[in-house]
Amino acid sequence: MESLMISFVIPSYNEAGNIAGVMEVIANEMLHQRVGYEVLFVDDGSTDGTMNEIRDLLFMYPEAEYISFTRNFGKEAAILAGLQFAKGHAVILMDADLQHPPSLIPELLKGFEEGYDQVIAKRNRKGDSYFRSLLSSTYYRFVNKAIDVQLENGEGDFRLLSRRAVDSILLLSEGNRFSKGIFAWIGLEQKTISYDNVVRQVGDTKWSLSKLLNYAIDGVVSFNTKPLRLCMYMGLTIVGAAIAYIVVTLIGIYKHGVDVPGYFTTITAVLLLGGIQLLSLGIIGEYIGRIYNETKKRPHFLVQQSSVESTTKEQTGQ
Ligand code: UDP
Ligand code: MG
Repeated sequence: MESLMISFVIPSYNEAGNIAGVMEVIANEMLHQRVGYEVLFVDDGSTDGTMNEIRDLLFMYPEAEYISFTRNFGKEAAILAGLQFAKGHAVILMDADLQHPPSLIPELLKGFEEGYDQVIAKRNRKGDSYFRSLLSSTYYRFVNKAIDVQLENGEGDFRLLSRRAVDSILLLSEGNRFSKGIFAWIGLEQKTISYDNVVRQVGDTKWSLSKLLNYAIDGVVSFNTKPLRLCMYMGLTIVGAAIAYIVVTLIGIYKHGVDVPGYFTTITAVLLLGGIQLLSLGIIGEYIGRIYNETKKRPHFLVQQSSVESTTKEQTGQ
């Protein structure tokens, strides 16, 4: 067990007030573990002195490492960078804001020693507003119907990934990354442990309503093409109904002569069809946008500076 090495990956965006604290609690937890570790901070283009905090840590802790981006590329990019640069036999993904309780580290490691490739820390939604938990449970019910992998409400990025799981994740090179779906997609042996929701102490959440909405849409379209199929079915149903309507009306005209043409029905039909066409166009556009982005094959992030070397050649952007 002594040569075992664990990498912590901490995506950090404007977390100056949290960096020192998270390093300290991780170090405390790891005191009791007989394994080597590194704590890899991914500074996602912070503008608040997060990077200074990280540099200070490098003097105090030999385990501290960092990657910094040239600008804010988003948490998904930060996670990807962390996974690419992590050297450990296993990686623990953790937020910088201590909302992912480090007290679970021993349990995560235990799962790894038991041979699991993913040890998932699942949070209950205690403390979330009623509106937000209703929103998320509705979302998961809907998404799980629509996509091919199953997502669990409360299972976020907080988890341990074995080297095998990390390498599998790195095989997925898509530009528009949706980690939750990717973690579910790779499969492998999984164990779930649960914890109580923790409220953020320092700083603000980086999620605005519009960011959440975009994330929700990514969840659906990143993982399947079913919405496209849905458009087709909708179109087919409407065409079928229209044909039936025409036949019935024609028979009516044949039997009773021409009725007064209905203004209301005309408008309804136009609006309905217009709406459905717009919706379909929107969905098609969504996929075309994705194809466009994929064909550009842009790197997911650019590294400004780092204290470690990437384990994969790909995507360092340099
Ligand atoms: N984060 C990041 N880049 C971003 C936004 C967030 O690296 O563009 C990091 C952030 O610093 C934190 C983690 O992702 O460590 C989770 O962010 P946050 O706490 O805002 O999300 P929430 O816990 O509210 O879901
Ligand atoms: Mg948080």
